[in-house]
Amino acid sequence: MQAPPIAFDNSYAKLPERFHAKLPPTPVAAPALLRVNVDLARELGIDPHWLASADGVATVAGNALPPGAEPLAMAYSGHQFGHWSGQLGDGRAILLGETIGRDGKRYDIHLKGSGRTPFSRGGDGRAAIGPVLRELVVSEAMHRLGVPTTRVLSAVMTGEAVLRQDGPLPGAVLARVARGHVRVGTFEHFASRNDREGLTTLTDYAIERFDPELAALGPDRVLALLDAVIARTAKLIAQWQCLGFIHGVMNTDNVAISGETIDYGPCAFMDVYDPDAVFSSIDHGGRYRYSNQPRIGHWNMARFAQCLLAIVDGDGKAAVETAQTKLDAFPVLFEQAWLGGMRRKLGLLTAQDGDRELIEAFLALLAETKSDFANTFRLLCDDLTLDGFETWRTAWLDRRAREDVLPEAQRTAMLGANPAFIPRNHRVEAALAAAQIGNLAPFDELMDVLKAPYDDRPEYADYKMPPAEHEIVRATFCGT
Ligand code: AMP
Ligand code: MG
Repeated sequence: MQAPPIAFDNSYAKLPERFHAKLPPTPVAAPALLRVNVDLARELGIDPHWLASADGVATVAGNALPPGAEPLAMAYSGHQFGHWSGQLGDGRAILLGETIGRDGKRYDIHLKGSGRTPFSRGGDGRAAIGPVLRELVVSEAMHRLGVPTTRVLSAVMTGEAVLRQDGPLPGAVLARVARGHVRVGTFEHFASRNDREGLTTLTDYAIERFDPELAALGPDRVLALLDAVIARTAKLIAQWQCLGFIHGVMNTDNVAISGETIDYGPCAFMDVYDPDAVFSSIDHGGRYRYSNQPRIGHWNMARFAQCLLAIVDGDGKAAVETAQTKLDAFPVLFEQAWLGGMRRKLGLLTAQDGDRELIEAFLALLAETKSDFANTFRLLCDDLTLDGFETWRTAWLDRRAREDVLPEAQRTAMLGANPAFIPRNHRVEAALAAAQIGNLAPFDELMDVLKAPYDDRPEYADYKMPPAEHEIVRATFCGT
């Protein structure tokens, strides 16, 4: 017998009924391949030729169910923009199942834009081609930049139109791969229903899947999970800050327990350094602005802690104090990771007094001179002199002289921490606009540029350029 095209090994489907709604994706009119992620397919032991075949395309369009799939929509709730939203859930997504990658790790294979579910509320369950390709290009860039993230295995057209603000758009479905789709909002779902049994089941599921070494801790495992998730989240957001990445919708339903960046909606990389930068067209208060991301990460962890406290046995007061101590570690862990990341960006391989001030002075100069975030850091790798930075440069060179390693090693560290290429908004938007009218050439070229973001490739020098005035993208949209 032939091996199935995807070796499913499902665990979420075995959880009790109230964790999900079991249903297949809704077939689409005319599935047509946009792009497959060949590298990712191989990492998952999926034959990329099968994936690009009629059978494969039918599968990731939701028109055919591969053997072993147990399709379901996950139940979750959440806080959106600081307010309790109650039940949300996969309103346009279906988890087909899980598979074990070549690295021995478990991955979800999930379709997005795959039709209505019991959690769709007013939505149509579909996605448009723009946001689908946007998630493909930005998540793949994040992966290549070294940031934990969900990835896109395939993008297909549906042959159907979806109606959005700007009128009818070509519909598409993406297949998303994640270490896991369990979110802070999944915990809130059960906590808000006072479902302690559900919370305990979910906690043990998350531990087995993401932090199996904690299972042996018995009753202490619950708050140990809090520690682990706090540590991952603090590190993740520090990486975002070091790259100038703005997520845009850090709602609790978009925070994965696995510590991966998830849900690429109105996200963006900054061009000019501006701590108050906001891109999301729906973020009127600037809650999710660049400089606020660490604070929001902390706030989201507090929501997670509240859920876990409901199932900690014994002395409630002591548990609250323990949880508070763990939460208080968030800013400390964030700062450590951020300082470490920023030091590398400046070629500093040891930690010394005064580093924080040196970093902050550099960022203040960036803001003052309205300099391009990525390019200015990249220029520093070769110590190019910059107007207005002379005094700072002297202090920086003094500080570099106090490193034990040779300047060449410092430079190597810097080149690996300061990307030459980021998915600049104007490039992404231009690539998506062309794709919408059937020309994928700019998209493919952008994907190629971002495959090796830390390598200087002179042939792509144009991709380093910040947008011209008329190219500046001031807002990005969820596209939902
Ligand atoms: P998001 O802002 O993409 O994280 O989505 C928040 C919630 O809205 C989730 O429950 C989604 O499943 C749901 N949602 C977003 N877009 C749609 C849509 N087009 N149809 C149905 N549900 C949607
Ligand atoms: Mg979401």
